[in-house]
Amino acid sequence: SNLADGLARGAERLTGTVSGAFFEPVIRIGVTGLARAGKTVFITSLVANLLERGRMPGLAAAAEGRIDAAFLQPQPDDTVPRFEFERHLDALTAPTPRWPESTRTISELRLSLRVRPTGLLAGFSGPRTVHVDIVDYPGEWLLDLALMDKSYADWCEATLYLMKRREIGAPYLARLADEDGAESWDEPRIKALADSFTAYLEAARDKGLSGVAPGRFLLPGDMAGSPALTFAPMQKPEKPARRGLWREMERRFDAYKAQIVTPFFRDHFAKIDRQIVLVDALGAIHAGPPAVADLQDTMAEILGAFRPGRNAFLSRIFLGRRVEKILFAATKADHLHHSQHARLTAFMEALTQGARSRADFQGAETSALALAALRATVEEERMHEGETLACVRGTLQNPDGTRGKEAAFHPGDLPESPASLIAAARQGHEAWLDADYRIMKFAPAPLVSKPGMGPPHIRLDRAAQFLIGDRL
Ligand code: GDP
Repeated sequence: SNLADGLARGAERLTGTVSGAFFEPVIRIGVTGLARAGKTVFITSLVANLLERGRMPGLAAAAEGRIDAAFLQPQPDDTVPRFEFERHLDALTAPTPRWPESTRTISELRLSLRVRPTGLLAGFSGPRTVHVDIVDYPGEWLLDLALMDKSYADWCEATLYLMKRREIGAPYLARLADEDGAESWDEPRIKALADSFTAYLEAARDKGLSGVAPGRFLLPGDMAGSPALTFAPMQKPEKPARRGLWREMERRFDAYKAQIVTPFFRDHFAKIDRQIVLVDALGAIHAGPPAVADLQDTMAEILGAFRPGRNAFLSRIFLGRRVEKILFAATKADHLHHSQHARLTAFMEALTQGARSRADFQGAETSALALAALRATVEEERMHEGETLACVRGTLQNPDGTRGKEAAFHPGDLPESPASLIAAARQGHEAWLDADYRIMKFAPAPLVSKPGMGPPHIRLDRAAQFLIGDRL
């Protein structure tokens, strides 16, 4: 009818022609999390599943059959590395599949969806293209935010205080005892201090302690070896000489903030519309109470990045923009029988709750869930001494990365109350969950390729619905 045509034309004009090209909405999704949280596997499986759409009933537009096509396109930013989707997918789908190489730096991928609209415009508007720009970056980089409102002297004080309380801080402190910040410096000495400090950060990370800033010391990206990444904390001398060691360290610390941290937040972080934060919660539970307590602190720090109002530096670069939605996802849920998933989600909620309730996220919608981007196990009920045990079965992965034997096991139950787990962590308990709680590392299962089917997963479609569903 004329009325419908007129309406459609009006709607078309509303959604607009911008600078000649038909307006196509863009959603920028940030994917972050600490190293080994599962970012690379998540993006690879998400994109593969959106390309195929056979296993995405939780994504409304897919369930309604409104996504006519999905395809990869050149990304908008020419200077950001492209996320190596094909290479990662090849690793996962090889006859002998392997886990892909993990995230080491920022990367980006554009996935475009041809979607038929729903609701009011469904009758008289053709399909439109929605671009989903996925930006992958190490969560460690967000920890650098804590440096932005600190001077070098402040940072040294806080860092050295923490190191003195940790056994693993001893080697660096011993080395530092031989140094005088007022004296002149040379490069090998600075490098030796920076290396020793980096070794401390690595040890902290390997113990499952997550508070490991500056973030680029562990994941330097393409800046490795530059002066802005070669510094370390020192006690401020009484009279720091202008050309002395302490002043040089201070200069490099300032360069790190101005030339590495600021551009990342300004050019990439501030442009993200929606964010998923992946957390290896099971890994932390497995590592023990100090790791959980530390993970909670780190989450609080990371979440600070999503509250620009609380930080002068962020307010300046966000200029009133904000992240619309944030999803906190516990990864590798296929390590647990589904009867345990609700507890894992509850743990995830509890872990971020302190930070979430303290936070005014300035309207950002948040949610938590447990997912497996790539399901490496199947479930199995087994009888054991007259009781049914809920097990998962998969191929174990040896520490050297080779495939081990197939095994089914009962990983033990997560506690019913996640709060008690966190409270135990806070009280400094050393061990918990009895000895029979084990987490094994599984190798990816060989995929039976079916046309129209992406890799098997758990709740990846629900994550997609939260992140992009309302815009499709
Ligand atoms: P990134 O450092 O955040 O990019 O982490 P990756 O995506 O590389 O994942 C790190 C490791 O976690 C992988 O090599 C796998 O061993 C494991 N992993 C990640 N996702 C899953 C999953 O969905 N299921 C299982 N079982 N393991 C996973």
